[in-house]
Amino acid sequence: MQPYTNDQTVAHFINGNSLSKSGSKTANVFNPSLGAVARQVELADVATVNTAVEAAKAALPAWANKPPLQRARIMNKFLGLMNQHRDELAAIITAEHGKVFTDAQGEVSRGIDIIEFACGIPQLLKGDYTEQVSTNIDNWTLRQPVGVVAGITPFNFPCMVPCWMFPVAIACGNTFVLKPSERDPSAANFMANLLKEAGLPDGVFNVVHGDKLAVETLLNHPDVAALSFVGSTPIAKFIYETGARNGKRVQALGGAKNHLLVMPDADLDQVTDALIGAAYGSAGERCMAISVAVLVGDVGDRLIPKLAERLKTLKVTDGMDLSAEMGPIVTAEALKRIEDYVQIGVDEGATLVVDGRGQKPAGFENGFYTGGTLFDDVKPKMRIYLEEIFGPVLGCVRVANFAEGLELINSHQYGNGVSCYTRDGNVAREFGRQVQVGMVGINVPIPVPMAWHGFGGWKASLFGDMHAYGEEGVRFYTRQKSIMQRWPDSIEKGAEFVMPTSK
Ligand code: NAD
Repeated sequence: MQPYTNDQTVAHFINGNSLSKSGSKTANVFNPSLGAVARQVELADVATVNTAVEAAKAALPAWANKPPLQRARIMNKFLGLMNQHRDELAAIITAEHGKVFTDAQGEVSRGIDIIEFACGIPQLLKGDYTEQVSTNIDNWTLRQPVGVVAGITPFNFPCMVPCWMFPVAIACGNTFVLKPSERDPSAANFMANLLKEAGLPDGVFNVVHGDKLAVETLLNHPDVAALSFVGSTPIAKFIYETGARNGKRVQALGGAKNHLLVMPDADLDQVTDALIGAAYGSAGERCMAISVAVLVGDVGDRLIPKLAERLKTLKVTDGMDLSAEMGPIVTAEALKRIEDYVQIGVDEGATLVVDGRGQKPAGFENGFYTGGTLFDDVKPKMRIYLEEIFGPVLGCVRVANFAEGLELINSHQYGNGVSCYTRDGNVAREFGRQVQVGMVGINVPIPVPMAWHGFGGWKASLFGDMHAYGEEGVRFYTRQKSIMQRWPDSIEKGAEFVMPTSK
């Protein structure tokens, strides 16, 4: 696969066409592997966001009225096109995000899963019907689209996270405005063009690129009925509070600090592989990355040497090199933030077992690279334990027993993902029951739920009631209506003043 090298400015995609506004503000999009500016992205002003919402609003009546089966057929064509172009899309992701190509392929696959789920929308939108709730009266419930909905997405999954939202939203009969991360904007336009090719009517799916201003314009726009957000916790909370204050339906998924609890009976070779992949894969820039290993009893003494040994051979290089295990960090600022956290950990007194700072692969000396870092003796009061680093830094906390490990995990502000490695079925069962986290793995390090199960954390990792995609996604993007009907011959009985009951 060739690397993606387009140097065109990334424009908006509104009403079925690329839209560029002369003189508009732009931001740099980097090739993180080279550490160089690769292209620019336009940043929408208020008028451009309004144009996108108007296009979505104009397209809404016809699209909402289209039979679900016809909407599903367009989704099905889009599914075929995504499969056909999956490697091109993966190369775009690697070029702008930096993650290794095979990981980007995996991201595209997980996005495609949700498009496939959305193809089943006629079945998912089936209502409930009760005949004869009272004599000659029937009652049924149905679900209708909420209207124009917006999605605001983070840099770390420029294909998969938008796919958590728009395929389900559109299949449900809504029209959509996506505001992707300005750091890796090209994947959104690529998908917009495939949706058009699949026959999606103009205006049903729109992309506005931008920053805070674009987001705030969507948040305050009276014609946006619902907002899905995925990103860091402070912004998620702001989006939830502002959107709710403005009367919108909001789901806002936030940051994470995911633990992996290792019991003394676990297979430590398996645990080593699981931790290396889950902590350093995608350079730790995953909301489901494992950033804390909780080591019970004597596990630390046996496991840390294995982790350190494996980490020293971690292949860190350009993502298009098929032998790469970890690519660069997304931006210079993110790299600095991560390496600053490593220094914070040292200053706080954690034991630095492997220091990844300053590691640059040959030929990519200007790239935003760091190596994998491993800390031992991390304590619960340290900032490197409490805060999300969002980089390839794994901290190990040693605990005496299962109960102490569980208590530690349950006390953390975040509750996105968690994992437990053990061979004891009862321990596994109790872990699953008692842990205060939204997505749990038992001998599975990154338990991202499948397309039909829905994704979402607890506590500071999710603001709102509904998880993303799956049946909760369908509920989020639809409003339930109940209809009760009776036909003329039973109507002429005069007014009734008591609460209707079944007769
Ligand atoms: P971010 O919060 O900086 O940005 C997310 C989106 O919000 C982007 O589109 C960005 O343009 C916009 N934004 C940024 N600052 C804003 C502001 N002040 N006001 C309004 N909008 C603003 O997140 P990121 O750095 O792109 O992504 C990494 C974060 O996302 C991590 O915290 C990670 O845990 C989280 N994340 C969570 C999940 C999840 O499912 N819980 C999934 C992926 C990523």
